[in-house]
Amino acid sequence: MREAFNIESGKHYVAGHRGMVGAAIVRALQQAGARQIVHKTSNELDLRDSSAVHRFFEAERPDYVFLAAAKVGGIWANSTYPAEFIYDNLQIQNNVIEASRRFGVRKLLFLGSSCIYPKLAPQPLKEEYLMTGPLEPTNEPYAMAKLAGMSMVRAYRQQYGSDFISVLPCNLYGPGDNYHPKQSHVMAALLRKFSEAVRQGSAEVEVWGTGSPLREFMHCDDLASACLFLMEHYSSEEPVNIGTGTEISIRDLAGKIAEATGFQGKLVFNPEYPDGTPRKVMDSTRLMEMGWRAKVDLGLGIRETLGGLSSADF
Ligand code: GDP
Repeated sequence: MREAFNIESGKHYVAGHRGMVGAAIVRALQQAGARQIVHKTSNELDLRDSSAVHRFFEAERPDYVFLAAAKVGGIWANSTYPAEFIYDNLQIQNNVIEASRRFGVRKLLFLGSSCIYPKLAPQPLKEEYLMTGPLEPTNEPYAMAKLAGMSMVRAYRQQYGSDFISVLPCNLYGPGDNYHPKQSHVMAALLRKFSEAVRQGSAEVEVWGTGSPLREFMHCDDLASACLFLMEHYSSEEPVNIGTGTEISIRDLAGKIAEATGFQGKLVFNPEYPDGTPRKVMDSTRLMEMGWRAKVDLGLGIRETLGGLSSADF
């Protein structure tokens, strides 16, 4: 029998706590009463360095691991730094997963991503469509690394009986997102572009691609809530999609953000930038059947995220 997930008395290691997802998981753990949460910045612990990771696990001996550390980025970053996207992510997950097994971690949650589904998989994306076709070329190195991580989770369950699980979140947003003008994902990029356009009185905002791709966006606090829920209620080698069940086109998203910022100028779609995968919406039935639901409404989440932005974010 699997041991219970004991939030309050267990020792939690959140890898990647400075990123949007890791920080949201730390907040959720604190709110749930966790008394022992350990984390390290990448300067203190380079997760690509296996000896350093093993020394850290040997010293800390966490009970629970949330593997939210990864090199992530939007469509431009993935196309520009493909080698770092595959190397860094493979190293990080190899080291953390193996150290977790070696030092007796009771449960580990590995974060994948909806972009590891085949480019032309039927939609909404069901977990069983993974590995059934070619990947979206703009993020293939990242996706390959994440697929390897999920395979590792499955293999460790099979060979060592480790209680490790994998989850696949949809596109995320919220406080602590990466607002780099080129390297960010679409939500952060547009929040920044529209806020700056309003401040500078610009007449136009450029939106990449045609505006027609469809995406599903979740607030990072909802993701963190789902991760804690699954740590408590789920133990199987099958990955679990984490989505809201609602999709929106990039054009409509841009319209929502324009409205939330008060931008009244023109939206200029630039098809010279890639659209990426045409539609990416998850089937989150597996998660919802367990009784979990996202809570943060998209319009409200956008307004709150905007309200929390400061010059430090840009
Ligand atoms: P994806 O979901 O993995 O494709 O990654 P992104 O979040 O980077 O992009 C999602 C969609 O938003 C793509 O169709 C982009 O072309 C589009 N998009 C529109 N404007 C922007 C922008 O300013 N930055 C980014 N990253 N994407 C944009």
